[in-house]
This record gives sequence, structure tokens and C-alpha cells, in this order.
Amino acid sequence: MAELGLVVGTAGNVSVRLNSENGCELMAVTPSGKSYDSLTQDNVVVTDFEVEPVEGDLPPSSESLLHVGIYQRRPDVRAIVHTHAIYSSVLAVSGIDLPPVIDEVVVYVGGAIEVSRYGFPGTPELADNVCDALGVNKAAFIANHGAVTVGETLEEALSICLLVERASQIYIMARSLGQVTPIPTEFVAAETAIYRMKNPQIGAVGSW
Ligand code: 13P
Ligand code: ZN
Repeated sequence: MAELGLVVGTAGNVSVRLNSENGCELMAVTPSGKSYDSLTQDNVVVTDFEVEPVEGDLPPSSESLLHVGIYQRRPDVRAIVHTHAIYSSVLAVSGIDLPPVIDEVVVYVGGAIEVSRYGFPGTPELADNVCDALGVNKAAFIANHGAVTVGETLEEALSICLLVERASQIYIMARSLGQVTPIPTEFVAAETAIYRMKNPQIGAVGSW
């Protein structure tokens, strides 16, 4: 993330869902406020879904409630990447959703990428608002803050983060030219169907 310019300093955080132990849901999450330059595997913290540390010496990310909130609302998600990437953040600050105007975004991310309602960093309100914006998709913008992407693996969540950042840049540039041509509705529907087909576990959950 740091090398790709998606974050600077200590911004952003990453987690993976671990297999539950004795019915206890667990995640591995980056520690709070630790620069990526010096971050090692040993610094990663394991917490339960109450964000009580189970393993590791450092405090877990201040956005741990966001990560837990997503894992609880989205059983299909096994990895989460949160960044302050520039073009995604421009939309998050402008309050402008990324509509379904790029084919690959609909197929890989699920459709329009919404800006959440505002939530103060680290709070359960931010977690709830971002989960609402995420819906059944794989990305959301966090109002006045940044972006969050999800996947079955960290590699997927990171590659979606890059795709969303690139798409945001394209959309912002197209808007600045003064014209954005939508994908015809029937093709958005076809691409959404492909997304659902590629992610059958989303359809199986159904309740959100
Ligand atoms: P942490 O260093 O606590 O993970 O916070 C970074 C961040 O992006 C907060 O939103
Ligand atoms: Zn952040």
C-alpha cells in the first residue's frame, strides 16, 4: 500500500479474518499508528470481535470496529484494506458516488461505489455507515476520509483498491471534461449478474 502510494506515514490499515477458535471469531489486524517502513509480521495483532487482543503486544488499529463490523455484516469477506488513496478520497470528500460507468468496476466491485454517511474515525457509527454504503459490493468510500475494499484474500482486496483508485481518477477526469457517458442499463444488469455469478457466496447470504 505504501509503495503503491495508496497511503503515507501510518494511514490506513489491513486485516484478515482468521478461522474461529472454540466458537470465537478472530481477525489479524495491523497495529495502530505504526509506520509501514518499520512494520513487521510480529507487529500484527490478533483480536476477537470485541477487539480484545488475543495475541500481539501493540494496540490494534483504531479502525478495528470498522473491520469487525464488515466481517459481521459480510460473512463472505475474509480480508479488508482501508486506504487514504487520493482519487478515492477526492470522491469521499466531494460526496460524489462513482456510478457504474466502467465495465470492469461493475464486474469486479459489484456496481456503483457509494460514499458513506459521515462517521467520526474509529466509532461504531463510522462502521455502520460504511457497511451500509458497502452493501453487497466490494468497495465503499468513507465520507471525508478514504476508501475501504474487501475480498476473499488480501491480494483481492488490494487489487480492488487499485482498480477503484484508477476508476476514481478516470471518472474525475471525465467529469472535468464535462461529459460522462453511462453504460446502458441492460449491460449494467448483465455485468452485475456476472459479479453475482463470480461471487455465489454473496447470493447465499441474502439477508443483507
Ligand atoms: P490506525 O493507524 O490506528 O490503523 O489508523 C489509521 C487510519 O487510517 C485511521 O482511519
Ligand atoms: Zn483512515
